Amino acid sequence: MSVDAACHDLALANRILAHEGVVDAFGHVSLRHPDRPGHFLLSRSVSPDQVVPEDIMCFGPDGQAADGDARAPYLERFIHAAIYEARPDVAAVVHSHAHDLIPFGVTGTEVRPLLHVAGPLGRVPVWDIADRFGETSLLVTNMVQGRDLAERLGAGRAVLMRGHGGVVVGDGLRAAVIMAVYLQVNAGLDLKARQLGPVRYLSDGEVALSFDAILAEGPARRAWEYFKRKVETHT
Ligand SMILES: [Zn+2]
Repeated sequence: MSVDAACHDLALANRILAHEGVVDAFGHVSLRHPDRPGHFLLSRSVSPDQVVPEDIMCFGPDGQAADGDARAPYLERFIHAAIYEARPDVAAVVHSHAHDLIPFGVTGTEVRPLLHVAGPLGRVPVWDIADRFGETSLLVTNMVQGRDLAERLGAGRAVLMRGHGGVVVGDGLRAAVIMAVYLQVNAGLDLKARQLGPVRYLSDGEVALSFDAILAEGPARRAWEYFKRKVETHT
């Protein structure tokens, strides 16, 4: 994939996540650089619904802007840098403040897949920045904090951040975006289902079999095209 094509897709991913309500004024999505090892692409500091390809910047493994790009970056770019450092299998990272995730990060109640298309998320741990860093703004503002978050993510697809939001990763941009959307959908459904009675979640076996329901090539392409068309119709 060319850098231009990557920037185009990343700008679209920003607008999809905004349109689906996963990100609002805050939150961001990045993509591992197609050519430069250890580098990644991420917008300058602007609301995701406004991102165009020209806003995309290149960042090095330390989370600092490459090539002397002096535009204002996102404060929390270290989330992305630390995860790319820790997870060679990850090609895209979504960080959101999705509202329906927040209750699960502050109550000790685990968010678990109850919806088949959220199945690949599996068990989602919670990272509490206060455990190691005490009282902070709750923002991830350096590599030490980013690495601590990446450690909590472990080998998983998602991690919640107490009182803040969450992170979803994927082996490609489509996978990260689709799972970020369905993590939020699943959390919203869980909040509703709990009002009706005990919730039956996907079993470990169903989780293991759920990948093909959404992340196989066919359904992932179909979902991406659906979300893309919604954005294009809207704009
Ligand atoms: Zn944040």
